[in-house]
Amino acid sequence: MKKNGKELFAQAAGAVLEGRGAFMAASLEALAERFSLDAASYYEYDEKTGLLRLLLRHASGVSFEHEENLRPLPGSAAARALEGLQAVSAKSPAGCFLYSPFRLDHCDPAGGRGVVPCFGLVRMERSPRRRRFSPAEAARADAYLRSYLRDYYKAELLSLHRKYDKNVAAITELTEVFATALRVSDSFRHILSGIQTYFGFDRVRLYLIDEKNRKLKGELSADIRGQVKSISYEEIPLEPGAHRFADIVLGKSSGAFMERYKDCVLYMPLAVQGVTIGLLIVDNLLSQQRIEPEELTMLKSFGGQIALAVDNSRLFDKVEELSLYDELTKLPLRRYFNQRFQEEFYRAERFKQPLALVWADIDYFKEVNDTYGHQIGDKVLRETGRVILANLRKIDFPCRYGGDEIIILLPQATGEEARRLAERLSQELSELRIPVPFSKAKELRVTLSIGVSTFPQDASSTDALLEKADDALYWVKSHGRAGIALYSDMAAEKEKAAGGGAHAPV
Ligand code: GH3
Ligand code: MG
Repeated sequence: MKKNGKELFAQAAGAVLEGRGAFMAASLEALAERFSLDAASYYEYDEKTGLLRLLLRHASGVSFEHEENLRPLPGSAAARALEGLQAVSAKSPAGCFLYSPFRLDHCDPAGGRGVVPCFGLVRMERSPRRRRFSPAEAARADAYLRSYLRDYYKAELLSLHRKYDKNVAAITELTEVFATALRVSDSFRHILSGIQTYFGFDRVRLYLIDEKNRKLKGELSADIRGQVKSISYEEIPLEPGAHRFADIVLGKSSGAFMERYKDCVLYMPLAVQGVTIGLLIVDNLLSQQRIEPEELTMLKSFGGQIALAVDNSRLFDKVEELSLYDELTKLPLRRYFNQRFQEEFYRAERFKQPLALVWADIDYFKEVNDTYGHQIGDKVLRETGRVILANLRKIDFPCRYGGDEIIILLPQATGEEARRLAERLSQELSELRIPVPFSKAKELRVTLSIGVSTFPQDASSTDALLEKADDALYWVKSHGRAGIALYSDMAAEKEKAAGGGAHAPV
């Protein structure tokens, strides 16, 4: 079925997107269809060598690339067509031929604004048994070819426009992603999948430098199936010669800024203010598609923004960490704890699991400060924090509740389990000797008073659970300190004392 001009142009524009070869294949196919050709061949003329280069041949419904040089003999139909810049037909025992010269303007591949002309000819063929090209038919075929090729420039422009539009959209959206990406956990994900989607790479991977441990650590990988996954298991020592990636980041590999590997992989070190913070690797290893120079240029222009976004996210996390954790004890602060407490309490209620609350307070801490100074007091707090962190399970959540008070949330723990933890902490702390220079005592010992309450036995709300743990703590404080009380023990004891007629200690 014959296509109309519009359809052909759309087809041509589509073909241009895939490159000049695809456009030529489309034009040869259109010619063969319209003028009942048995074959059509596309030659480009190289003025320097005077050779015609056969680049593409279309026959029996298929186009195939075919490289072959041909020197047009003086006086031959091909030479006459080129010299006169008009179609020349010829007949030989091999068949009937029509040589149609053309001029094809295409956009400057160097990226300039101008067009670059390219001369050549198309040889149309019919088998010897078939009719030769009549002068009218030759004129029509020639005009058709020229008009088709004249469109090349337009089609190329159109495709460039489309590409440009796509790039502008990518720049706008990616810039937004980079500018708004804050928290590490979601921003890396957005950045990587943004790059993968807009450039269409098979895979994008991010590695960051861990300066403290001198390592290049894998962060995330986004692939063409839309999967974003952690590659934190990848750790590369940051030493020259340890790994190709390390060499690139350290600038020990050639082409330090960007290094390409077989045109399918691009390594891009990320730097902020001259300091390398990581490595972005994009590849088309699966599809074996070349990474185009324009993509390289664009990615390069994004390099600074990507690095900045990555660095900002890390900074944001750090600031957030500072606002959530106590600098001295390294324990979470009350604001963070309250949020977690609500979540854990809800979970305990919902799944009918126990939840224990441990409330610890350092004994005579004020005295420590008054006697040995705040620095020693700080040291006591630091050591207490260290011992607590070293003894907890992953799911436990401690908090510096204020001053010398520390609360620990123990999900899925019974009162007895909480008591065992409290005993372990007290034991370990009591073994600590904190040296105190310029004093008679020479060293200082730390004891804790600890109160424990549990859900669901002691309370049915977060506030009540806190209150009960505080009650138990107060009981210990008023019974000589350096001890542990479960709220339930204390209540039983109180009851016994009340029943026995004695004064309740609280
Ligand atoms: P008790 O055995 O009854 O708990 O008595 P205590 O001396 O420990 O009294 P309390 O718990 O009321 O004292 C807390 C003290 O902790 C008061 C405050 O000066 C001190 N403190 C609070 N925060 C810090 C801190 O960050 N560093 C130091 N060095 N002291 C702190
Ligand atoms: Mg205290």
